[in-house]
Formats: sequence, C-alpha cells, structure tokens
Amino acid sequence: METVSGWRAFVLLLVAAVLGLILVLTAIWVFAVLALLGLCLWFDLVVVPRVATRLGVDRRLVEALLGVALIGGGWWFAGVTGSVIGGLLWLASVGVPRLSQSWLRSHVRMTVVGRPEPPVHMLELVPCPVCGVASADAGERCPACGAAMSGAQPRSLAN
Ligand SMILES: [Zn+2]
Repeated sequence: METVSGWRAFVLLLVAAVLGLILVLTAIWVFAVLALLGLCLWFDLVVVPRVATRLGVDRRLVEALLGVALIGGGWWFAGVTGSVIGGLLWLASVGVPRLSQSWLRSHVRMTVVGRPEPPVHMLELVPCPVCGVASADAGERCPACGAAMSGAQPRSLAN
C-alpha cells in the first residue's frame, strides 16, 4: 500500500506540475498577445500617421504593409497559428479602430467648437427727411421721393 500511494502522489504531482506549466504558458501567451496588441495600437495611432506623413504616402498603404508584416512575421514565428494571431492582431489594432472611427463618424454628429457665430444682420429703417417714408437699407437717395438721405438718422428695429 505504501508504494501505491507513493505512486499516486507522484502522478498527482506530475498532473499538478503539467497543469501549472500549461497555466504559466497560457499566461505568458496571453500577456505576449496583450503586449503585442498594445504595441500595435500604439503603432497604428502614433507611428503609422507619422510615417505616412513623412513618406507622403496614404495611411492605408502603411497599414496594409503593417498587416503584411504582422501576418508574415507570425508565419515566420509560429506557422499557421502565428499568421492567424498576426492577422487577428492586425484586425484588432487597425481594423477595429478604423471601423469604430467610421461608426462614430456616421453615428455621432461632431460639433465644431469655436466657430464664430455669423453676425446678426439688423434691419435698419431710415426715415426720409422729406417725405417721411422709412426705407430699409436705402442708399443716398430716398426710394420714394428721391430726396437726399444724408441727414436721416437710422432707427434700429432691434431696440
Ligand atoms: Zn422721401
């Protein structure tokens, strides 16, 4: 009985060790993918616009090259699994922000802050000094009698 229980303890220990190893490996993978995702997001939000501006090329070209690099690098690193992870990373870092941006643009109306209000045009009625006909925005002569409007004082309707 002693040997059997010792053998069982060994198997339990082995299973626990394997489970722990799997857990640690999974944690490392999750951490690595999260770190890569953060790196890709930073790359897409900070580096790609600068590179596109500096090279004078379209931002989408740089993003496409980033996707090729991620999928190709994933293939080089871990074959099919790596390229799938690279593609998913590219989707998460480039596709999702782009989609959410276009969604925001179509669903949220942006308000321009700081645009000056157009000046309110106030209608000014100017009474003619000769005939008394009030006219809005009359020139130098009264439209009714043709007298000169030089002495007329404008009266604002706003008051
Ligand atoms: Zn007049």
